[in-house]
Amino acid sequence: MVTWVYDFAEGSKEQNDLLGGKGANLAEMTNIGLPVPPGFTISTDACRAYLEEGSAPPGLADEISEHLRSLEDAMGRRLGDPDDPLLVSVRSGAKNSMPGMMDTVLNVGLNDASVEALARQSGDERLATDSYRRLLQMYGSTVLGLEARMFDEAMDELKRSRDVKDDLGLTSDDLRHLVTSYQEVIRSETGKPFPQDPREQLDRAVQAVFDSWNTPRAVLYRRQERIAEDLGTAVNIQAMVFGNLGATSGSGVCFTRDPATGSQGVYGDYLANAQGEDVVAGIRNTVALTDLERLDPTSHAELLAVMERLELHYLDMCDIEFTIERGRLWMLQTRVGKRTPAAAFRIAMDFVDEGLIDMDEALRRVTGHQLAQLMFPGFDPSAERTVVARGMSASPGAAVGKAVFDSDTAVAWAERGEDVILVRKETTPDDLRGMVVARGILTSRGGKTSHAAVVARGMGRSCVCGTESLDVDIAAKQFTIRGGPTVHEGDVISIDGGTGEVFLGKIPVVDSSVVRFFEGDPGDDVLVNAVSRVVEHADDTRRLAVRANADTPDDAARARRYGAAGIGLCRTEHMFLGERRALVEELVVASDVDEQAAALQQLLPLQREDFLGIFEAMDGLPVTIRLIDPPLHEFLPDFTELSVTVALEDERGATSSRHHRLLAALTRLHEQNPMLGLRGVRLGIVIPGLFTMQARAILEAAAEWVAGGGSAFPEIMVPLVASTEEFAIVRAELEKVGREVQEERGVQIPHLVGTMIELPRAAITAGQIAESADFFSFGTNDLTQMTWGFSRDDVEAAFFPTYLDHGIFPVSPFESLDIEGVGSLVRTAAAAGREVNPGLHLGVCGEHGGDPASIHFFDAVGLDYVSCSPFRVPVARLEAARAALMQ
Ligand code: PEP
Ligand code: MG
Repeated sequence: MVTWVYDFAEGSKEQNDLLGGKGANLAEMTNIGLPVPPGFTISTDACRAYLEEGSAPPGLADEISEHLRSLEDAMGRRLGDPDDPLLVSVRSGAKNSMPGMMDTVLNVGLNDASVEALARQSGDERLATDSYRRLLQMYGSTVLGLEARMFDEAMDELKRSRDVKDDLGLTSDDLRHLVTSYQEVIRSETGKPFPQDPREQLDRAVQAVFDSWNTPRAVLYRRQERIAEDLGTAVNIQAMVFGNLGATSGSGVCFTRDPATGSQGVYGDYLANAQGEDVVAGIRNTVALTDLERLDPTSHAELLAVMERLELHYLDMCDIEFTIERGRLWMLQTRVGKRTPAAAFRIAMDFVDEGLIDMDEALRRVTGHQLAQLMFPGFDPSAERTVVARGMSASPGAAVGKAVFDSDTAVAWAERGEDVILVRKETTPDDLRGMVVARGILTSRGGKTSHAAVVARGMGRSCVCGTESLDVDIAAKQFTIRGGPTVHEGDVISIDGGTGEVFLGKIPVVDSSVVRFFEGDPGDDVLVNAVSRVVEHADDTRRLAVRANADTPDDAARARRYGAAGIGLCRTEHMFLGERRALVEELVVASDVDEQAAALQQLLPLQREDFLGIFEAMDGLPVTIRLIDPPLHEFLPDFTELSVTVALEDERGATSSRHHRLLAALTRLHEQNPMLGLRGVRLGIVIPGLFTMQARAILEAAAEWVAGGGSAFPEIMVPLVASTEEFAIVRAELEKVGREVQEERGVQIPHLVGTMIELPRAAITAGQIAESADFFSFGTNDLTQMTWGFSRDDVEAAFFPTYLDHGIFPVSPFESLDIEGVGSLVRTAAAAGREVNPGLHLGVCGEHGGDPASIHFFDAVGLDYVSCSPFRVPVARLEAARAALMQ
């Protein structure tokens, strides 16, 4: 028999999969003796069964009844009892936190009779009526699917007629009036009255939570956060406690450390006389947690003790939701808190220094993605700027863009390539689409724990929230800064999510302190210190070496500063551009081998200089230089333009024989599918002397550098090899040049000759190719293109959005390796290559070399190194170590 429902006392924090994050942590807190209102959790298994069958699985209703009875016994109250009712909350809680994406229904158990009993018991008629109208509103919008607007309009109209600003100004009579209006909305919209049977309320609320797993906003959020679609959510049913019982009650959200900077000391928002949802929704402005000390010193002290206990128990920064009901503290939720990238590094190192975790654990707690975010630019500190408003620093990063006030405009403008900042009073989960495309988010309400803040941090968007001096008018598409100017839709603003500052106009941006550190400026900020310690430990931990893709001495030097152990891919094609195009033209219009050789002879010294600069920058480190890869017509004039020129010249009688020859060459070289055409090793075979000229330039440059006292380790790489025969032909020629140069120069130049593995055929026959190759470098860009049959230049814009929508893959296979398909080729080729040639050196130089998930795969299949762009080298160093730890 499957068990669908678990009491809080039965679970633990390890059971996220079964009980969801919220349920598992409620269980953990219950079991360590913290004050948690009693309750039970309906498992994710039940949700999955419900979603599969479209109805509650057999046995679930009985199990709910059983647990409900225990809960009623524990509380000494019965659900729906007209004299002494138990009220419960029904909350979603998936394995991964999905803030505000799924449904919650509070105050389940209230009806026309029990509301009176609640009023009597609490001695607070206003509370009872307010709780009932909240139930009607939540039930109406989440369970019955009515538009929230209908309830909001009734509320706004009432406030207007009573001339009050917020809901606290409404009396119990007013609220009773609202209850009647809400019941009327439900009756007229659904044709049925609001159910008075509390068990019906409960069952339908549970179903609504299950169903909310599949709302479009939840699906979008999961896609954004790469959360699996088939997990389902758990549902937590818990005795209600009331934060809205007057001045000695309230609700709050807090963190055991500052989630924005990671600095020590608790951080939180508190709202007196309110329920938890009011804090997160940013409906009223909260006060800082320190103010609770003044309002209720006993609860404050107890809360601090709980926070300390939780940190020591979880050995991590925790975030907490709590309610104080008439001076009594209740814990409603805890979890390991979300944090900014800066806070992640700082907290990890502080925990090490406090003796709570070791360096390996610190490494597990930070990600390459977070490090990448820290390498984003901030505002130029020397730039002129005037702060026009100040809110909370909710999620770091400098953002500049045009102000927009709704998601539709944000999406439309972003699609036409504009940077936008989404400005809202507060955000709701419905704003997610706008938040995804915006550079930054600015709100006038809500604290660091509001929806906007939590979601922005998760997405790595810059966010300033709770900017009280902004009067945001969504309908008029503008905001006015108190005592200052008005900003209209389309006006450019700048926000600094790290400081909470808002500026008018565009402020220039500069490198991050972490980038400055990698560039050689040690600085003395805590963040840089934490990052450098973590990365240093990563270097001691990782198995994979990290090289860089760099084509110029400048890029090579940067790669070295960022910690690259060599160059994994130096593309040589840029060396044929600019003035050298003329020489490529000479090469292709040459009428015989001698003319070709003459053109190549002119390219030789230029190439030698190119390579010398790179050997200098990478002195003592290996440099993999790839022989020319693209089809030659990429270096020649455009076919149509040249045809027109020639036609016009002929008409004028000013025929140019060079143009004619060039046009003939272009016609000869024209291809329908150049990516499948005369490129890579095929060029080397078809155009005699091209590859050998490059190899000579490489080896002569190395000889020159060595003669000057340096050391150079060239690795010559042949692109687009498909067969061992192709490679054998080229290798023989390269070896001959190698012997000649070493003889001419009288020095030994240790060097390797290897191949890219970027065609499926090469991967499949890797065992044969490995017999004569010194190394393989997986070109996963082409390998992805050729395996899927996707043109890498076109498909991402053309149809990937539709593919992503259909869930054919969760992310572009050009961005993160398709492990099942392309990865399988890499795995087989690596194994086959090593079997025949145990010394075969293996690396990857496609874009995937800098992608965290792909790096974990390359570590697992035993490659020797990954090579990525210089900027991603620190990220790869970190992820390579995490991969080694997490295997
Ligand atoms: C590759 O195909 O993965 C590769 C590194 O080569 P390029 O991107 O230059 O084709
Ligand atoms: Mg390639």
